[in-house]
Amino acid sequence: MPQRVVCQQCGCVLYEGAEIKPPDEILHQHNGKCPGCGKKLSLIPINVEVKPVK
Ligand SMILES: [Zn+2]
Repeated sequence: MPQRVVCQQCGCVLYEGAEIKPPDEILHQHNGKCPGCGKKLSLIPINVEVKPVK
């Protein structure tokens, strides 16, 4: 199932793809902050939204 992770603050897509990635890996790719709004992304609780993509 494809995965999409978006920033809850600005809706910026942090990750979208066919592979399920662990949240920490996704955060790592963005240096721990949202590329859209610069909000620091915390891992626990993860303040991003994970939605299945059709
Ligand atoms: Zn953001």
